[in-house]
Amino acid sequence: MLQNVLELSYKGGRLSCTYRLPGDVIKKRAGGLLQMKQKIAVIGAGPAGLAAALEGVRRGMEVTLLEKGEVGEFIRCAEGYIDPLRVLDLPEEGLRFKVESICFRAGKEYELDTRGMRLWITDRRAWQRQMAEELVRQGVDLREGWRITRSNYTSLRREYDWVIDGSGVPAVTSYVHGFHDFYLPHSLAAAQYIIKDDFSHLREGIKVGLSQEYRGYFWIFPQDDTTASVGIAYLSEDYGPRELNDIWARLEQEIDGEGLSGGGILARSGGLCPAKMLPRLVWDNVILAGDAAGLASPLHGGGIDTAFLSGREAVAAIARGRTENYRKRLWEILGPRFGLEDQLIRYWVSSGFHEVERLLAGVKSFCRGEGIGPLLPLSRDLLQKGYHFLRYWRKLGGS
Ligand SMILES: Cc1cc2nc3c(=O)[nH]c(=O)nc-3n(C[C@H](O)[C@H](O)[C@H](O)COP(=O)(O)OP(=O)(O)OC[C@H]3O[C@@H](n4cnc5c(N)ncnc54)[C@H](O)[C@@H]3O)c2cc1C
Repeated sequence: MLQNVLELSYKGGRLSCTYRLPGDVIKKRAGGLLQMKQKIAVIGAGPAGLAAALEGVRRGMEVTLLEKGEVGEFIRCAEGYIDPLRVLDLPEEGLRFKVESICFRAGKEYELDTRGMRLWITDRRAWQRQMAEELVRQGVDLREGWRITRSNYTSLRREYDWVIDGSGVPAVTSYVHGFHDFYLPHSLAAAQYIIKDDFSHLREGIKVGLSQEYRGYFWIFPQDDTTASVGIAYLSEDYGPRELNDIWARLEQEIDGEGLSGGGILARSGGLCPAKMLPRLVWDNVILAGDAAGLASPLHGGGIDTAFLSGREAVAAIARGRTENYRKRLWEILGPRFGLEDQLIRYWVSSGFHEVERLLAGVKSFCRGEGIGPLLPLSRDLLQKGYHFLRYWRKLGGS
């Protein structure tokens, strides 16, 4: 009976003998020590998948990384790289600039200092490609042009001890298990153009705008003096109904309002930023990470940092043999931040545009040591909002 689960192989000048047991593989090198060697497959070479692969090789696992296109081909992102939890390393390649200030527009404009924040604008394609090359050097089997579908998903699961699904939203696993409908209502919906124009006035800075007309925000994230991602995001339905059909028209209005309608459009893309952690993240031997797990920020939709963190945590959970604790562990790390963001959104949604504007003016004035004049007359409610905003801002590292 043992013979059925025993494999002999000769690779790299070494004879190995592998006993296959349910859920893991024990490898015994001839004359060597008894070792655990796990085989993991990672679906998707986005931040979640790359982080999972990196953690896998770091822990001595056999890693296969499957990407449906070329690495970096299907990125939909404004490329703002914000890292309040300090989980990201700075890329060696693909860093455009450190964001020194945010210009908030809510009626008037308020310039906020972000020098203390871990916030950069990146070139994600360059960053992801550099990471992938490094992974290949470290022995990861990178397969570009490999799309995982419902039909090859089952064989993948059989072939590997564990599969990390970092395929974004909706995740491949969600189609197989029928929960793909979960994402849309709990996601921010985003639409963006890459525009050619003069953005030199924003040098080292970004712009974020709020409007009275929709629940969401507008952004200008320059890539350089002449190119920027200009986009709009609607909050998820967790904060009220929304009309997705008009998102492109609203974006056009914002672009007009910013005097950018004469600029050339280089690209257009849109998508969902899933901002509610799925109730279940482990399906047999498959673990969801990143957008697939619903980990984008409910406040701004950013998800590079949380994708990275979860990819890493998923593999760490496998290595510890504690995958049943993976979701709990993620919630311990991310829950407090998401909770604070949720409170901020609820204040924003319930208080209305003018209150938000007063709050921004007050916080800016307070941060500059100029007193709290704009917050006067003070109500308890406003004080609370100010406190929450400041807490969040300070947590991000802003001054
Ligand atoms: C318009 C827009 C702007 C955004 N701007 C920002 C921002 O400025 N900052 C920020 O932090 N976040 C931003 N986000 C969110 C951010 O892009 C995501 O949270 C982040 O990319 C999630 O990483 P991920 O690895 O989970 O998924 P993804 O980055 O989506 O990566 C998934 C990978 O899997 C591959 N794949 C998919 N299906 C398959 C399959 N079947 N088989 C094999 N491979 C597959 C894809 O090609 C892709 O490479 C934005 C999102 C949108 C829609």
